Amino acid sequence: MVGRWQSQSAGAPTVPRASGAPLLASWQRPEMPLFPRESTRCRPPLVERRARCGPVLHRGPSEWDDVLSLNLTAGCFHRCAFCCARGSAAYPGDDRLVLYERTAEQLDRELAGRRRRPRQVYISPATDPFPPLAEVQDETARVVEVLARWQVTACLVTRGFIRPSIQRVLERHRRWVQVTVAMTTLDRRLQHRLEPWAAPPRLRLRQLKSLHRCGVAVRAALEPLIPDLTDTRRNLAPLLQALAEAGVRHVTAGYLFLRSGIRDHLAPVLGDEANILASYDAGPLLRSATVAAARYLPKARRQRGYAGLMALAAEYGIQVTLSSLTNPDFHAGPPPDGTSRPRLSLALLAQARP
Ligand code: SF4
Repeated sequence: MVGRWQSQSAGAPTVPRASGAPLLASWQRPEMPLFPRESTRCRPPLVERRARCGPVLHRGPSEWDDVLSLNLTAGCFHRCAFCCARGSAAYPGDDRLVLYERTAEQLDRELAGRRRRPRQVYISPATDPFPPLAEVQDETARVVEVLARWQVTACLVTRGFIRPSIQRVLERHRRWVQVTVAMTTLDRRLQHRLEPWAAPPRLRLRQLKSLHRCGVAVRAALEPLIPDLTDTRRNLAPLLQALAEAGVRHVTAGYLFLRSGIRDHLAPVLGDEANILASYDAGPLLRSATVAAARYLPKARRQRGYAGLMALAAEYGIQVTLSSLTNPDFHAGPPPDGTSRPRLSLALLAQARP
């Protein structure tokens, strides 16, 4: 698997070396022609190294003061159709990925200069810290090492494949690492449509299992749930079963929210099924302290969906909690387990009113 992941030398701009072709072939199996070869969707992005303007650490996505985040890149390799970052004004486009230089060194200096260290830092919450680009994964590992040295927990959310050498770094610093593996489906055709460049779901499951075995705190996130597409029993039952078999006992979940940029990417991928987005028309426009305004599914529909998910997950011995980030109209108290994000429990869901 590692051989499919290209290593790129420093310099701007760069493109994946010739091994980009096998990488493409590995994700895009010939029996599943998803996009025409000439489409930009099947070309890896150019990587542009750029000096950062301003500090590395900043607020968000958590509401907690001692939880900060940093971005390693602008743009994401994976090009998920539901991605909110892809629809933002700061997104450089699918054909370009900006890698900020010397993030780990600058982070080290910033942490040294702070009177109060953060408790946790989200690494690249608006992109993926483990795209199939060795230089990005190497920088992720360096940042994890710096955070561990300062005894700050690194929170990483990924749909990618973590290279074995990088997994060893996570393992070495497991006391200060928390990985969330995001999943939408086990159905390869659907996954190709929704997350064309992300790692195959079975690979993500194996990775989750392997991280867990190495003692790294790892959890799974069922995000985003898309109404009548990924929130169905047909989609969720095999996914929950596979997660249970991988040793997962707890997942987080959240429904898709829409902005015009997200709708523009998602609707063509859904094709005939794009009418499922019409269910958002009656939903509320919400914003929170850390999430810009977006259109959400009607609250009653989300409650129904979450209740169904919780009941189904219970059949597999899995507990579900919901992030308030994707449900700003549900109210939650402080996290019960010292984790960074406020969680919503079944009890809170029961109290919620449409
Ligand atoms: S992996 Fe995350 S950041 Fe990257 S395209 Fe997919 S949803 Fe967006």
